Amino acid sequence: MTPPALQAHLAAELQRIRDADLYRVRRVIDGGHGAQIRVNGQTCINFCSNDYLGLASDPRLAEAARAALAHGTGSGASALISGYNREHQRLEETLADFLGVPRVLLFSTGWAANLGVLRGLLGRDDTIVADELNHASLIDGGRLSGARYERVPHRDAAAFGDVLSRLTPHASRLTLVVTDSVFSMDGDVAPLPELAALSARRGAALMVDDAHGFGVLGPTGRGALEACAAHADIRTGTLGKAAGAAGAFVAGDEDLIEYLVQRARSFVFSTAQPPAVAAAARRGVEILRDEPEHRQQLFDNIRRFRDGAAALDIPLGDSQTPIQPLVLGDAARALAVSQRLFEQGYWVAAIRPPTVPRGTSRLRITLTTAHRPEQIDALLEALAHAWRTD
Ligand code: PMP
Repeated sequence: MTPPALQAHLAAELQRIRDADLYRVRRVIDGGHGAQIRVNGQTCINFCSNDYLGLASDPRLAEAARAALAHGTGSGASALISGYNREHQRLEETLADFLGVPRVLLFSTGWAANLGVLRGLLGRDDTIVADELNHASLIDGGRLSGARYERVPHRDAAAFGDVLSRLTPHASRLTLVVTDSVFSMDGDVAPLPELAALSARRGAALMVDDAHGFGVLGPTGRGALEACAAHADIRTGTLGKAAGAAGAFVAGDEDLIEYLVQRARSFVFSTAQPPAVAAAARRGVEILRDEPEHRQQLFDNIRRFRDGAAALDIPLGDSQTPIQPLVLGDAARALAVSQRLFEQGYWVAAIRPPTVPRGTSRLRITLTTAHRPEQIDALLEALAHAWRTD
């Protein structure tokens, strides 16, 4: 039986979450992912997926996974024991080659990669200088490391510079500048060239989480760093978004990767991803590398959506990426508008605290390659009515 103290705690917390309009529910999808899906038994158009290139439902990824599944499902152990399969090695090599980095290390999720790097690399004497809107996994990894945490106003390169200039250089203490590349709830991009230059000038290292840039940004899809020709000492990315599968990677120099193999606890103490998932991810990376037309279609879709919103006076945020926020303020309002759209057959997520700061609840609309022009136009029409009414 649940102890009364725990029971009371759970009931009170759940009520508090409900009262604040922050209660979250899962909707059940039947069948595959894609632009048109079945959710809670209803057909709708999905505008809240990170499957930016539509690869999650590409039969070629399923085929790659199926071929690997012929040998079984689970990897059976962590990579350092007996879980490191040829499929993992091939995926790491494909990623390193594509990104033009010496080495890549696979993790089972982006969350684990960020935690592994920060907790593995930093300790109490070190300092993290981080954008205030960084992803939760970067915040948690920073906390776990015990390092001093300097939170910097969003995308404010001058403020990064001020913080860095106040730190006393010390030969054995690390300073790590940490930022998302594309911010996951705003879609805007960090000032990466400025942060790279500042870090280099101050003897700090730069870590960039390119979860939403990898496969999407840059002339050849290598991500946000390619798009702005900047260098980061440590780059993380996930394979569950543009690459259409799951898992994640850290990319960097030989010694960084070898160190993480020894010290990243979320790598050392966690079962390796299923080989079939690695096979699907590799196929996804090959496709996004070899078929730039998917990226072209995605950016055509983004332009169509933004031009249409401007014509209808829908005040989107300042984003040129697939993540298009419409800030509504109040959590209850964001929820009501999202619900109204869902009833009309459009699934657009309402994003509320703690994912975004209080008072900035929003609709987070994501565009993918899979959306057809008429689906985008229809969403715009529905949005134009829905967002103004409470
Ligand atoms: N970083 C960012 C910026 C993300 O948006 C996410 C996923 N939402 C992650 C890391 C975590 O990646 P994963 O889903 O592979 O755990």
